[in-house]
Order: sequence, then C-alpha cells, then structure tokens
Amino acid sequence: MPAERGIAEAAAVLRAGGLVAFPTETVYGLGANALDSRAAARIFAAKARPTFDPLITHLADAADLPALVGALPPAVAALAERFWPGPLTLLVDRPAVIPPIVTSGLDTMAVRVPDETSARALIRAAGVPVAAPSANRFGQLSPTRAEHVVRGLGAAVDVVLDGGPTRCGIESTIVDARGPYPVVLRLGALPVEDLVAALGPVTVRAGNSGQPVAPGTLAAHYAPRTPLRLLRDAGAPPADGIRRGLLAFRDRPADGYAAVQVLSPAGDLTEAAAQLFDALHRLDAAGVTEILAEPAPDEGIGRAINDRLGRAAATWSPAG
Ligand code: AMP
Ligand code: MG
Repeated sequence: MPAERGIAEAAAVLRAGGLVAFPTETVYGLGANALDSRAAARIFAAKARPTFDPLITHLADAADLPALVGALPPAVAALAERFWPGPLTLLVDRPAVIPPIVTSGLDTMAVRVPDETSARALIRAAGVPVAAPSANRFGQLSPTRAEHVVRGLGAAVDVVLDGGPTRCGIESTIVDARGPYPVVLRLGALPVEDLVAALGPVTVRAGNSGQPVAPGTLAAHYAPRTPLRLLRDAGAPPADGIRRGLLAFRDRPADGYAAVQVLSPAGDLTEAAAQLFDALHRLDAAGVTEILAEPAPDEGIGRAINDRLGRAAATWSPAG
C-alpha cells in the first residue's frame, strides 16, 4: 500500500510484534519493534539471516537517542547532529531495554535516523525504536523498490509500504565514533569524504574483516543469483554464444551483450548508486549466464558502489 496511507495501520502492526517493510532513503527496510525480542526474531526468520548478523535500530528523531542510551560520546553526538536524518549509522552502547538478539549479543548497538518522511512518521507512530535490516533474503540483492521486497520476501512480511524507488539506493555508512579515532565499518551512501570534512582523518576498516561484526562486510554478499564478474574494461564479449549481461557505469558501446544496464549515462555517481541494485535485479531477471560489471570511479559514493560490486562478484568462481 502507498506509504502515506498505510502508516497508522503499519504502526499498529509493529506494536503488535509484526513485520513491516518500509522505504528509507537508502534501501527498503524490514522493520520490527526493537524492544520485542520475539518480533526481532521474526526478522531473522523472514530473511534467513544468521543470528550473528546484528540489526540496525531506527529512530524517528536524533533527540530520541540520548533518551534511549543516555549521554553520547562527543564525536557520536557531533556526527548525529551533523548528518541525521541521513544515511549514517552510528555505534552506541546497547541500552538494557534493547534485547541482545537485536545486536547479536554485541554490547554495541547500531542506530540511525533515516532521511525519509514516511519512515520517520512510521517510527514515530509506532512509538518504539524499529530494528530494520534491508528487506531481502540474507546475502541477496538489496531492495530499492517495493516490488523487490514482495518478490524476495512475499508472505513473510505483514505489510509492505510502497514509497517508490529509494533515493540513495545503497546502504548507510556505518561508523564507530566512540573512541578517539572514528572507524568506518561499512562504506555506504554517506561518502567518506563528507566524514573527513566533518571530523578530520578517519580509519576505513570496511574490507573483508572476516569478523561477524558487520556481515555487510562479508566477502560474498549483496549478490545476484547470476554469477557476476567485475572487469575494469569489459570491452566486447567473446563471440562464443554465451548470453552475457553488461552492467555499465556510464554510456559505452555494448554490442554483443544480451542485456545491458547503464547506471548513469552521464557518469554521475549519485545517480549510479541509486540505480545499482535495481539494475542488478533487472540483469538477474534477463536470462543471462553471467553478468560483467564495470567498476565506478573510486571516489565519493563510487567507493560504496565498488564495495557492493566486489562482494557480489565474490560468489563467482572460474570453475563455474
Ligand atoms: P543491513 O541493514 O541488512 O545492511 O545490515 C545491517 C548491517 O549493520 C550489518 O552488516 C550489521 O552487521 C551491521 N551492524 C549492526 N549492528 C552492528 C554493531 N553493533 N557493530 C557493527 N556492525 C553492526
Ligand atoms: Mg542487508
């Protein structure tokens, strides 16, 4: 149902322990009452998500955070003040009212205020913090449209609010700013350059840490079903009869490909990020044997695009 009309009903579903998929500026989230361990458990079941993968808690307003967790470390408070509402997730100490299943037993909680009017209205109407990972099955492509959610999760969700395609199209940047040196745990829609401008130097530890702390950082994640190969200059495909899809960053010749998606004809990084998962969903549905993807320029949100493409490609094996 359209996001504006369904908010009161969806809020009631959240309060009753149900699951609501809703648009944010990044991707669609699969929300449950973060104070209710049984509701949170339903998120893991619906996504087939391993319970070691902690959820991000969403608030309607930055002012709600100190009320939930108490006084904030100065850099956390400064980042919340500067970038919320927005695609930045911050780590704070887990308050006792948040059950450990939400944070996968970690003593930290990831939290953000989404920059999407309907999402904030939903959370406010529910009157509880809302735990919400991306509304897709674990490891698969993130949803940037309501129909991606319906296709991927179907009857496992009680309500899907439809707010059209999401604006950023890529997940939030996750930062641990509790200590003296802020650490970027996941590259995302808020460019690292913006963090540096606000804070000074930051550490980027968003690679394949192998730690279960941020599974968005697992080597293989965000993957289409079709094998995806990342190539710096994909050129023309070999004439071997294999149907290939091309994911191009910008306009380029594409003869010989069975399906083509261009992220941004003019090569605009923001537009490319917004199109990324939708383009991958389309290529996945195009009946091709493999997808060749070209990286974006490695700057700004382009870093997050390349991070996602690298993880999508990690399931590809030369042996097929
Ligand atoms: P998703 O919303 O599906 O992209 O998943 C949320 C991401 O945030 C996952 O990769 C989590 O591991 C990460 N995350 C959530 N809580 C924490 C935490 N306390 N510390 C580090 N990363 C976290
Ligand atoms: Mg996810």
